[in-house]
Amino acid sequence: MPAKSSAPDNINPAIVNWTGPLGLPEFAAIEAGDFAAAFAAALPVHLAEIEAIAASPEAPTFENTIVALEQTGELLTRASNIFWNLTGAHTNDALQELERKLSPELSRHYSAIQMNRALFGRVDALYQKRASLGLDAEAGRVLELTWKSFVRAGAELGADDQAQLAATSERLAALGTAFSQNVLADESDYALVLEAGDDLAGLPDSLLSSMQAAAAERGAEGKHAVTLSRSIIEPFLTFSERRDLREKAFKSWVARGEGAGERDNRPIVAETVKLRAEKAALLGFESFAHFKLDNTMAKTPENVAALLNTMWAKARTRAREEVADLAQLIVAEGKNHAVAPWDWRHYSEKARAARYDLNAAEVKPYLQLEKMIEGAFDTATKLFGVRFKAHGGASAYHPDVRVFEVLDAGGKRIAIFLADYFARPSKHSGAWMSEYQEQHKLVMDSDASGTPGKSGQTPIVVNVMNFAKAPAGQPVLITMDDARTLFHEFGHALHGMLSDVTYPSISGTSVSRDFVELPSQLYEHWLTVPAVLQRFAVHHQTGEAIPEALLAKMRAAEKFNKGFTNVEFTASALVDMAFHSLSPEQAANIDPMEFQADVLAGLDMPDEIVMRHATPHFAHVFAGDGYSAGYYSYMWSGVLDADAFRAFDEAGDAFDSATAEKLLRHIYSTGGSADPEDAYKAFRGKLPSPDALLEKEGLA
Ligand SMILES: [Zn+2]
Repeated sequence: MPAKSSAPDNINPAIVNWTGPLGLPEFAAIEAGDFAAAFAAALPVHLAEIEAIAASPEAPTFENTIVALEQTGELLTRASNIFWNLTGAHTNDALQELERKLSPELSRHYSAIQMNRALFGRVDALYQKRASLGLDAEAGRVLELTWKSFVRAGAELGADDQAQLAATSERLAALGTAFSQNVLADESDYALVLEAGDDLAGLPDSLLSSMQAAAAERGAEGKHAVTLSRSIIEPFLTFSERRDLREKAFKSWVARGEGAGERDNRPIVAETVKLRAEKAALLGFESFAHFKLDNTMAKTPENVAALLNTMWAKARTRAREEVADLAQLIVAEGKNHAVAPWDWRHYSEKARAARYDLNAAEVKPYLQLEKMIEGAFDTATKLFGVRFKAHGGASAYHPDVRVFEVLDAGGKRIAIFLADYFARPSKHSGAWMSEYQEQHKLVMDSDASGTPGKSGQTPIVVNVMNFAKAPAGQPVLITMDDARTLFHEFGHALHGMLSDVTYPSISGTSVSRDFVELPSQLYEHWLTVPAVLQRFAVHHQTGEAIPEALLAKMRAAEKFNKGFTNVEFTASALVDMAFHSLSPEQAANIDPMEFQADVLAGLDMPDEIVMRHATPHFAHVFAGDGYSAGYYSYMWSGVLDADAFRAFDEAGDAFDSATAEKLLRHIYSTGGSADPEDAYKAFRGKLPSPDALLEKEGLA
């Protein structure tokens, strides 16, 4: 059994013993300066636990090797989960400095474990005789995934190659951290402060309120600021009548990560692409994309290309038609310029208003953040029987963070949900779900809190978003895109909170990257279910439900502008794949911007649209390798979610209980305990073709 990881006494006990309300960490008792000592203590404790397993005189068994591995590192996990959640959602100089130091150090730490020959010898011995071990399906899957993760980390390589691989991974970790910190710095430094009057032409009241709050936060009381948070920049580009200001703000937005000097992400990308290609070659793969895709649903770059190219051709054709529409509107206004990228949102909103008699400003008064949160919760209650109880007494790492208890139908607490909705300079952009504690059912005899024999744990899940605040006393109104983001991230949160597995390593969202967007994207479908909007999209002043006529117009416009959205997404996905399909020789000396331009030229990218994420701020792909050769995952999961929601359509009820029960059993609660293809087939009978997605996007 692993050595006990009792907390060393020179570290802040608040990092180890989570004694806050509901078992949360006592955040107020933790300071940035505490983490260095916590990690310094946790790493050797973890290594000692690993060494005890590797050096065991007993013959390897599933219990004494695989289960024992699952039980190690609790102290490190606790320190890491607090630390990395804070560096994402509420960072500061001290945390960033430690992050730069820690990311390569942790890479080294995990390489040492996964390259431990004695340990891998035990895992491999079990794996080779897996059929005769009498394991149940979940345990068998954990053994297989554990073995594979060792092999993919270089366990079978010779000593020299292992040393080179470890050094490469360490450097890559440092580069990912630098990339991410540079983007954050460019984003939080930027504000285009506007004067009253003509500067604000065309901007609706709700956006003006948000811009006023953003200006105040930056010390420009009484003025209005355009920031690079999507909740502000996108509506600004949509509504501003000032073409010069749109151009100015747009150019700053798309140039994040590209400034010369210390914050330049271009050399970071060049080195990252080169090292990833070398890493893949060391592990015996043709390219980094081949390496990454080897353990996904898509399996090969060819399968990814087939999906992306199908979408690209159709989306580009549609986008060309959309350009023609927008150009006409510009002419009709008596102007004679071409459609530039900073014109697209503006004229596309006008085109939508003209064609469907629908504009975003008309919808927004009905989209109160508070009511949309209620709608997301209520949907989960209807589908899965879970309820959410606000816990006013519990505070988290920032005053804006809300804490909820999640209860099952019988009133038993099954999870804690933290919700952190608003943008601030200390937070990275985007939206995400993450965990402080993952669900599992193992007995952790190394329980760091000192409670012996604690059996399993309930998940503590967080949603982080970047909505714009309203000035004090006013309701926060969000856009339809924001509401979709809210439902998306809440779908991920449910995937973590409804997880019902035995082993930590396959808990919740620990699934194939191109499967993980299924629970989140599928959840977005419920936002536009008429019964949900009728009940939760109520006017912030009159309290009236959104009118049926407006809903009908929204439905009619559902497939509008899909050329644009699919071109901007697919271009990013194709550039990601191109970077990661290079051999080490091809990747040795690239200029990332030139490479990106070449790929886009080869695709015949429309001039009027830019990539959703240009390379220097493409954090999905370069701030760590999470979605590298993996940005396509949204579209892969998109095929699944388009088909999955049809199960409810076919049942004739968006909340059909039999379908919801199957969805819970096979998708939301299974984590990685089943192969994703098998899980999907268990829910739906068979795998879908891309037709479901093309139809949903109006591109069939
Ligand atoms: Zn997602």
